[in-house]
Amino acid sequence: MTNHLFDGLTQAGFAKPGRDFIRTAGDVRMTYSEVEAVSARYANVLIDLGVQPGDRVAVQVDKSLDALLLYLATIRAGGVFLPLNTAYTASEIEYFLTDAEPRLFVCTPAKKDALAEVAENARTAIETLGAGSNEGRVDGSLAMKADSAPAQFQTICRSGENLAAILYTSGTTGRSKGAMLTHENLLSNAETLKAYWGFSEDDVLLHALPIFHTHGLFVASNTVMLAGGSMIFLPKFDLDVVFANLPAATSMMGVPTFYTRMLDDERLNRDSTAHMRLFTSGSAPLLAETHRAFEQRTGQRILERYGMTETNMNTSNPYDSERRAGTVGFPLPNVELRITDPDSGETLPNGGIGMIEVKGPNVFKGYWRMPEKTASEFRDDGFFVTGDLGQIDEDGYVSIVGRDKDLVITGGYNVYPKEIELLIDELDGVIESAVIGVPHPDFGEGVVGVVVGKNGLEEKAILSSLEGRLARFKQPKRIVFVEELPRNTMGKVQKNVLREKFGNILSA
Ligand code: AMP
Repeated sequence: MTNHLFDGLTQAGFAKPGRDFIRTAGDVRMTYSEVEAVSARYANVLIDLGVQPGDRVAVQVDKSLDALLLYLATIRAGGVFLPLNTAYTASEIEYFLTDAEPRLFVCTPAKKDALAEVAENARTAIETLGAGSNEGRVDGSLAMKADSAPAQFQTICRSGENLAAILYTSGTTGRSKGAMLTHENLLSNAETLKAYWGFSEDDVLLHALPIFHTHGLFVASNTVMLAGGSMIFLPKFDLDVVFANLPAATSMMGVPTFYTRMLDDERLNRDSTAHMRLFTSGSAPLLAETHRAFEQRTGQRILERYGMTETNMNTSNPYDSERRAGTVGFPLPNVELRITDPDSGETLPNGGIGMIEVKGPNVFKGYWRMPEKTASEFRDDGFFVTGDLGQIDEDGYVSIVGRDKDLVITGGYNVYPKEIELLIDELDGVIESAVIGVPHPDFGEGVVGVVVGKNGLEEKAILSSLEGRLARFKQPKRIVFVEELPRNTMGKVQKNVLREKFGNILSA
């Protein structure tokens, strides 16, 4: 009788209880034996609060040691972990709580007053967790309860097919979709990545990613834990802190912005990185130019991989052989990948550009309470239609050539234009709008709103009316006005024309 994910992830670490699992830049440490005890304390509290197997635990908290332990405790207690971006506003949180109907919502102490009513409306219990554990402090009502709870817990049995997490993605129609991930989805992908990237108990991962997203939570934390390795847990990506902690690390996982920022800093050189075993990149395209510049400066070739919330990781450049700039490498072991004609679904010959479809133990079980949406994104033979357009070269390397949906990826976060367009269109004086992503020197892409408005409407008025209604990363950096939106013969807005026209607006 086991808990598929919790037992799988902790087996190596619990065999060496005195080893560090995680430490902060300020040297607050948690060994694997403390992981056992603290996850037991939180699991006991969750059970006391009424969490039963299959219940969702929604969490919008700052990154901290205890926040990660709350994830592990939720799995251990048989719950379904539901992390939420810290930038989401109260009205966005209301949607997630109403849709997911969690048993418990955990927020930061500072946001409790603002969110208590939202939780009450969704008939969800609310507790708080602050980031004090990073300094060795008990911080928040949940942490206080855990502090006095027993350090033993009989782990709840769960099979590979049970849900472990729901991660919300943005929706093209403006509604976010909850991707349902099972114990086996997460464990199998961690096992694959550990083997493919050579993670071992000797690894120390510099962890500067957020933990409400698949990259920082699953790709990074699960893989390291499965290997019995350790992490230096940084609240955010801060160049000074990153360079100060780099000497103690063996590996780092990043989004492309991390690497462009490091390249702008003279501390990045051969000496400061010579001891590093691995740098990986994902969540957004790494420019071939960045890959080359990084290698020139450090002698290290960044290993780029490709995945998504719904599928965990699908492809990776190889660890031991050529990491090819501008590509995302090969399908991972046990992952089937094909390129198809987006309309007919026919598999294309090698070299053709088309829809990337994937199948394997990594692929999610569907969208929460959206059976029709789920059905429309899976082929009859079980392949998931990713929405990414790609190509496979003659050596088998996969490249991503574009996105089928008009997703904007800014600073590694996905923004679906429709959600913002709907809000802009509601404003007085707006006739219609189109939201696009254009190159941004820091974030990869930035959001720009193109608006057809009546006379007198001002950029500032639109920008300020969106503040507080959208997470900051979704808010447009600029609004530009046009006479009319370019459309094709089918009446569809040609966003490519807009991107071309306004492509330089954020890079000047
Ligand atoms: P998310 O669900 O937030 O992880 O976003 C997934 C999307 O990010 C994918 O569908 C891709 O469009 C994009 N993505 C992830 N990794 C890469 C990569 N290495 N290169 C290009 N796009 C990527």
